[in-house]
Amino acid sequence: MNREMMLDSIDVPPSEDSEEPPGLGGTIVCDIQPSRQTPSLLHDLPILNIKKDSLKLNSFPEGALSKKFREVFFPDVSREQWMSWKWQLKHRVTDHKTLSKFLCLTEEEQRFYESKQTIFPLAITPYYLSLFAFNGFDHPLRRSVVPLEHEYDVSDVELTDPLGEDHDSPVPGIVHRYPDRVLFLSTMYCSTYCRYCTRSRIVSKTMKTDCLSERWEKGIDYIKRTPVIRDVLISGGDPLTLPDETLKMLLTKLRNIPHVEIIRLGSKMPVVLPFRITTSLARMLKQFHPLYMNIHFTHPDELTPETREACRRLADAGIPLGSQTVLLKNINDRVDVMTQLFQGLLTMRVKPYYLFQCDLAPGTTHLRTPVETGLSIIKGLRGFTSGLAIPHYVIDAPRGGGKIPLLPEYLVKKDQCSYVLRNYEDKLYTYPDVGND
Ligand code: SF4
Repeated sequence: MNREMMLDSIDVPPSEDSEEPPGLGGTIVCDIQPSRQTPSLLHDLPILNIKKDSLKLNSFPEGALSKKFREVFFPDVSREQWMSWKWQLKHRVTDHKTLSKFLCLTEEEQRFYESKQTIFPLAITPYYLSLFAFNGFDHPLRRSVVPLEHEYDVSDVELTDPLGEDHDSPVPGIVHRYPDRVLFLSTMYCSTYCRYCTRSRIVSKTMKTDCLSERWEKGIDYIKRTPVIRDVLISGGDPLTLPDETLKMLLTKLRNIPHVEIIRLGSKMPVVLPFRITTSLARMLKQFHPLYMNIHFTHPDELTPETREACRRLADAGIPLGSQTVLLKNINDRVDVMTQLFQGLLTMRVKPYYLFQCDLAPGTTHLRTPVETGLSIIKGLRGFTSGLAIPHYVIDAPRGGGKIPLLPEYLVKKDQCSYVLRNYEDKLYTYPDVGND
């Protein structure tokens, strides 16, 4: 591996200093403070400047909220700068003082910082902040990335490593749980930190780039000498926060291993920083087929013109796209919200893939629903919308049990020669089981 390149580029995000955002001047603009009204869904708003032929090569259509936020809080920042993913990373909000310039923090949000023992840091890209800054305190996207004091309430069943990944790690940075595939933890950095992150024990932690480089080398070596591995999922942290050249180097190393048939990328960048999906990134990625991508979506308000364009670029590069969604209390735990999300994703050529029961990560009790909620959401989808729009609802079992799918009770009774089944309208039907062995 080209060690020089690794040392220069891995996991070196732009400065995380709490830089004063340009044009802000340190004052709260009170007439645009959020209201408690129910937020309108973004795709109901007029889409500005979306004419494709007017776009420059790396330009994106600009959603109404994003445009308004840029004009109010960053009046000196051009549309081109705003759409630079490096500018977005450099200006991500990582501290409470800066956050309070964009949002009126509630007492529950303030008290998270008063404790002084931050367990999982804050980070939000200006783009993602724009999607909820003008809405109420309870806006679903705000609740998924702005911490509350409840994060300090760690219940007895919550675990630092909820999925027992460390136990299934033959070398650092590799999780080998299932027979034919591995998880490759490429970086510990994300542009935006989700408050329910399963890997909060490692994500956001700093590691010297030479240690990370050594870890990559060991991971690639493990995959090379383990021929049973035919599928590598690169996740983290978010691999799309890596520079193009670094990511290309990793993909090249993996693609050159003869028994690695498919490579998958797990990312939230098309959602929290869609500008990362430059045409040059899409061009680079298409060299590594068969390459799949799973994108972490939470709520239909994320289906903005910018994210739609990011997914279009990836899909046009021939990358099959799937979504992963964590079921979250008071954020997306309703049938109508999930229907809107999954149907919207299909229009963006993203297949809803997994709906996860919220893992037992520390301090996430306030975000977790009962399992029954997930089952009733699946029941409310099945039969009422296209099967393509329905993800697998799974519990990733604690302590390394792996993903276990759950379905509502469609099988009512079974005997030697028939099955009594319940359909989506709760009507019963008998299927005579007359097939031969
Ligand atoms: S994007 Fe994934 S890894 Fe990063 S904070 Fe969110 S859940 Fe964790």
